[in-house]
Amino acid sequence: MDREDRVGAPVVLMIAGLDPSGGAGIIADIRTLIAFGCIPTAAVTSLTFQNDRGVHGAAHQSAATVSEQVLSIVAQHRVAAVKTGMLATRDVVAEVARLIREERLPQPVIDPVLRSSSGFELLEEDAIEVLLNELMPLARVITPNIPEAERLTGVRIAGEEGMREAIDVLDDEGRVTVFRGEWIDSPPVRGTGCILSSAIAACLAKGLKLEEAIDAAKSYVSGVIRRAERLTHNSSPITHHS
Ligand code: PLP
Repeated sequence: MDREDRVGAPVVLMIAGLDPSGGAGIIADIRTLIAFGCIPTAAVTSLTFQNDRGVHGAAHQSAATVSEQVLSIVAQHRVAAVKTGMLATRDVVAEVARLIREERLPQPVIDPVLRSSSGFELLEEDAIEVLLNELMPLARVITPNIPEAERLTGVRIAGEEGMREAIDVLDDEGRVTVFRGEWIDSPPVRGTGCILSSAIAACLAKGLKLEEAIDAAKSYVSGVIRRAERLTHNSSPITHHS
């Protein structure tokens, strides 16, 4: 156990993709975990090449390199919560499920990342079956966006009118809770799915109940979107006075 573990901040393990430009993936997760007072640790599943204009490539990790990262982390830290994001390949998904079972890691918050907004495939097609059958049964909570929920369940979800009501639905073993939020008319903000799922993991690590964790995480994401909206509305050209 290291010094920070002893002083009580909970350690969260993220198993996700690295977006070196910082908008999504592990860097967005790290910012979120620090904002919630948690200690971030991360296993990289894929090194992606992207920026605000889109994803143009990725170097996926193997099951072995993901496993080496996770085992090194759990050998040092007591992990209080786990979040998974982009998992890239079938082998990595299967390995993550195995590690969660065999290392007795906490039930993960699963953000079932399938594609970037720009259309780049972040999970290979043949991995979906393993995600559904091996990883998802281990989840504490799964946070799909609407296209991901449609793809994973095969159920069509109401159109934009429905989305604009800004509703999130939690089905906790049949106990359904509806979370109402506001619709914020902002330009698209990158990484909101990553931020939501890591905020939930952070709150669970701190001991909040699932519903409280989702509430706090949703407020946090709304704040991030509102700040982005304010920045775009208020941005004016910089003028220099001499
Ligand atoms: N890159 C990585 C590593 C991600 O984890 C995600 C989403 O979770 C994305 C890109 C996609 O982000 P966006 O939907 O903002 O394109």
